[in-house]
Amino acid sequence: MKQARELLHAKRTGRAWSRDEIGFLVQGMADGALGDEQLGAFAMAVALQGMDEDERLALTLGMRDSGRVMQWAGLDGPVLDKHSTGGIGDSTSLLIGPWVAACGGFVPMITGRGLGHTGGTCDKLESIPGYQTAPAPERFESIVRELGVAIIGQTRDLAPADRRLYAVRDVTGTVDCLPLIVASILSKKLAEGLDGLILDVKYGSGAVVQDVDPAAELAHTLAATATSAGTPTRALLSDMNQSLGRCAGNALEIREIIDLLNGSTRGGRLFELSRLLSAELMVLGGLAGHRDQAFERLDAVWARGEVAERFARMVSALGGPKDLLERPDTHLETAPVVADLAPGEPGIVQQIDVRGLGLAVIELGGGRHQASDPIDGRVGLSELAGIGDRVDAQRSLLRVHARSNDDLERVTPELRDCFILGEDERLPPPLTRPL
Ligand code: URA
Repeated sequence: MKQARELLHAKRTGRAWSRDEIGFLVQGMADGALGDEQLGAFAMAVALQGMDEDERLALTLGMRDSGRVMQWAGLDGPVLDKHSTGGIGDSTSLLIGPWVAACGGFVPMITGRGLGHTGGTCDKLESIPGYQTAPAPERFESIVRELGVAIIGQTRDLAPADRRLYAVRDVTGTVDCLPLIVASILSKKLAEGLDGLILDVKYGSGAVVQDVDPAAELAHTLAATATSAGTPTRALLSDMNQSLGRCAGNALEIREIIDLLNGSTRGGRLFELSRLLSAELMVLGGLAGHRDQAFERLDAVWARGEVAERFARMVSALGGPKDLLERPDTHLETAPVVADLAPGEPGIVQQIDVRGLGLAVIELGGGRHQASDPIDGRVGLSELAGIGDRVDAQRSLLRVHARSNDDLERVTPELRDCFILGEDERLPPPLTRPL
């Protein structure tokens, strides 16, 4: 492919591509005219030379349009979604979808699997027996129209150019490249046909981008590119220096969400961040004039049990049990070995290696080393201590849910090393930072 070779050479030597040239290259990614070696050269040239704003936008739109772009004519509310850059104990999607739907929004949420040390919403949902994360596209659309929300996994017809490019980036050391990350994330989200998007960009020891400054740059770039692509978008920065919820692991996180929905637990960082992101979406979609008005509405539907009801109806519509919220213990499998992990010495939690917690969940079988690995929904961590918590013989660091005693013993030393204890009183880190 002569033209591709010339275009790759041009970028290698520092020339920006035109919109048409990017369109031509993306077309080649989607239809296979660009070989894997050329795709590798594409990714490496972009990683080394960068892309300007116009190029980034053209790549995002080209990849979005490489597959089906959903259309939502005839709905009586805005179509909204959120994306998070990934973390530990972060099940906000499972609350935000039904919550915004209960307030009049429509949320066609297409979610990913665990990536690196982070958890994935799709994997969590698959720990619910019968839940279909890959329904037929017509079924997905009709559930969104009827219930206002459906949460499923990636579909093959959305942004196929990204699927090919992502696989090549994975093996060519070009995953952490800003324009490629932006186009990859946004092409899939914008193909949902949204009227508004909220981006939750994480920083901290459990985030993919750990330092605040590059996380803020990612947040700004994502929001600016999505807005230029015609989708009103806001980004916020949220803390990942401790697990967001008290659990990390697939069925354990579903159980944590159920306990919040049915009122047996209240508040906490997972709840607060979900409420904040839902409020931002309502303002973006015109369902509320400002944040406080959104909070009022969100709190009212929550108190009336409407969020729990939406969640339950969605689970049932997608093939899960009808009484999951009433009888979670009957449906969610549990691990055979459960043990509390006490600290070596008592103390106050000063710092947590949250990435290490995510890696331990993978070690227990709750995540993947390779894309093809099966996962065990039952395993993981619960009762996780946060920064500022006092831990001792009574209040452990966490509870391990394992397949065997061998697994438990294997992860115990690394889990203990994830916590730095001291005697200084600490406040939990702020949940969000201004962008
Ligand atoms: N998630 C994606 O979908 N793509 C990236 O490049 C990074 C995170």
